[in-house]
Amino acid sequence: MNPRGDLSPPTRLAGEHLRPLGQPSGIRVYERCVTAPTGTVGAVTPVEALERIAELLMRGRAPSYRQQAFRKAAREVSRVPENELLELAAADRLTDIPGVGAKTAQVITEALRGETPEYLTKLLNDLPQPGTDEGEALRAQLKGDLHSHSDWSDGGDTIEAMATKARDLGHDYFALTDHSPRLKIANGLSADRLREQLEVVSALNDKLAPFRILTGVEVDILEDGALDQHEDLLAQVDVVVASVHSKLRMEAGPMTRRMVAAVASPHVDVLGHCTGRLLTGRGRPESTFDDDVVIEACKQFDTAMEVNCRPERLDPPKRILTKAAAAGLRFAISTDAHATEQLEWQPYGTDRAAACGVTGERVVNAMPAGELLEWAGSHPAP
Ligand SMILES: [Zn+2]
Ligand SMILES: [Zn+2]
Repeated sequence: MNPRGDLSPPTRLAGEHLRPLGQPSGIRVYERCVTAPTGTVGAVTPVEALERIAELLMRGRAPSYRQQAFRKAAREVSRVPENELLELAAADRLTDIPGVGAKTAQVITEALRGETPEYLTKLLNDLPQPGTDEGEALRAQLKGDLHSHSDWSDGGDTIEAMATKARDLGHDYFALTDHSPRLKIANGLSADRLREQLEVVSALNDKLAPFRILTGVEVDILEDGALDQHEDLLAQVDVVVASVHSKLRMEAGPMTRRMVAAVASPHVDVLGHCTGRLLTGRGRPESTFDDDVVIEACKQFDTAMEVNCRPERLDPPKRILTKAAAAGLRFAISTDAHATEQLEWQPYGTDRAAACGVTGERVVNAMPAGELLEWAGSHPAP
């Protein structure tokens, strides 16, 4: 965001959307939805069952093709009217639906019968419970989320669906940070599409107030450290997350300079998933860079380091997170959600952050929106 941007706090936010103290995390809310007090699991629709299975597979770090199969089936089934679905199930022809195989058909059949699909029950029973006491205490201080994607880039849900979910989780705000143009694989937004998106967000904000969608970009850090979006747009949006998505294996020297250049930009508020590691499927090793130098740069330019909550990322690793916390950096604990239910992933980040010594007063998304925007507009120029 532009240091000269509008710093006046949005008055409509002030104190109007307070979260009750000790409200359970999204994940606990979610688990409550499917787990009745007796420990048995309540009824779910076929689409809910398929989506929950996909999410649980992802959390359990199953190979991505497995969860994608359930996601695809959920999408396809959501298009089939319920009576038609019942007819197909009765005729044992659910596999006629594209993307539905034997396993997904069984899940659908059980859900249609009002039973909890056996596979879902099994996954729920295997689930490690996130939410340490320290992590929950930190999560309870969060007022929003600063990294998310909609179907404008590579997310699966509309902006409004994402915003509504964030609001229902008790957030006061969330930043919509779709990808920048060079990330073609993720349908990154051209300058024109981003301008168009800003208008859409503005209209939605009128509708959803006092909840607020913060405008933003997840801007690619190009090979030379330049940022992949027009300067005026980076200055205009509320939150800029800068991330490396290409040439992740360049040598440590140039990679360090590349990251520092981005961190030093007065437009950049958050350094996204700094090592780029992936923990699932074939995985991806961490990028190599001088983490002391990058931490020092974040400190000097008052850029927050992201604690990325995605179960397959959990980035930065604990050794860097511990160092950064000791150095007194600011942090953004963000889900990088690409679908509504992924906005519930903050406990994965807050558990780790709390364990590594991150405290609420250093977390930028624990600030009320007005203060957050003031901070985002205040980075010193290099
Ligand atoms: Zn990213
Ligand atoms: Zn992202």
